Amino acid sequence: MAVQRWRVGRCTITSVLEEHVDHIPPEMFFPAATADAVAKYQWLVPDFADESGAISLRVQAFVIELGTRHVLVDPCVGNGKRLVIPYWNERTWPFMERFAEAGFDSGKIDTVVHTHLHADHVGWDTHLAGGVWVPTFPKARHLYTARELEYCRSSSNPGNDGVFADSIAPIMAAGLADVVDEDADLGDGLRLEPTTGHTPGHVSLWIESAGEVALISGDIMHHPVQCAEPDWAEIGDHDPEQARATRRRMLTRAAETRALVLVAHFGPHPAGYIQTDRNVWRFVPV
Ligand SMILES: [Zn+2]
Ligand SMILES: [Zn+2]
Repeated sequence: MAVQRWRVGRCTITSVLEEHVDHIPPEMFFPAATADAVAKYQWLVPDFADESGAISLRVQAFVIELGTRHVLVDPCVGNGKRLVIPYWNERTWPFMERFAEAGFDSGKIDTVVHTHLHADHVGWDTHLAGGVWVPTFPKARHLYTARELEYCRSSSNPGNDGVFADSIAPIMAAGLADVVDEDADLGDGLRLEPTTGHTPGHVSLWIESAGEVALISGDIMHHPVQCAEPDWAEIGDHDPEQARATRRRMLTRAAETRALVLVAHFGPHPAGYIQTDRNVWRFVPV
């Protein structure tokens, strides 16, 4: 698959794909959904859903290049992780090969941003070397919010057993971890915004460069159908009511600011604009 890359002012954003899956029954991720209800949104077909209403989902990371900086956002599931979700358990994806093919060097990543600490957003931070989990990006500051770290370690976060031990503790032990505010200014036009709901300490990343704006949203939505059906909760949403309010707030802002929105689980077109469509929205891919 060709490298997908977008310009935002003077900055370049690149998708690095871990996995793309088509023909997924939508109710697997959105309990309120049916295939018929998805299929009625013809603007989703054929790229984001098939004619029957089965959906496409991805796991991908984004790399932001601006000046000399290389910022990695949400580094996917990773290889060899023991996870309770069978589909993610002990995988062998060619993610780092794709990362290299896209022209990146793990030693040049200076910052890793995590929108949240679900297993599919932190995995490549570490890899196995001689049976031990070691940092993959040894020069990078890895950013976490305090609430999200607390949630990740708590028993109220089922399905993420082992994530702290295999993907976060080794980063802390190596002295590469920073706890930042949920609205932290990361410099060079990068700024976090708290977007609680999917998880308690979830954040999204705004990018402003030379008068243009982009938003790396994280998991405030998982599929473009949620632009049209913003009340459809995703099975992983920790607080569905808060997640709905956050989704509506951020879709409104993205439409107003004409931001290029990039979403970890959208594919085959991860980037696009949010267009107001009566009292809801539509995702217009670029
Ligand atoms: Zn998530
Ligand atoms: Zn996710």
